[in-house]
Amino acid sequence: MAARRSDDPEPLGSFSQPAGPPVPGTAVCLSCGEPRITRIRMRTPSGIPAVFVSCPRCEKNAWFAVDGDGEPLTAADIGPVG
Ligand SMILES: [Zn+2]
Repeated sequence: MAARRSDDPEPLGSFSQPAGPPVPGTAVCLSCGEPRITRIRMRTPSGIPAVFVSCPRCEKNAWFAVDGDGEPLTAADIGPVG
């Protein structure tokens, strides 16, 4: 049995914005309006600095460019996955 360590980088219940200014479009789920969505600051597979958001309520996933205008990135923007 593997030892479980409690060193998760994002404590449960802490869904505040990543460091830096808020990224447009990531305040709530764009599909159902759920505010308690998971936000992960990372690059898209195509290399764009972005925030990946995942909704625990409707399971909608989306990417928003860090310097974007609140519109979710398209599949073409994101690039090939996998
Ligand atoms: Zn949702």
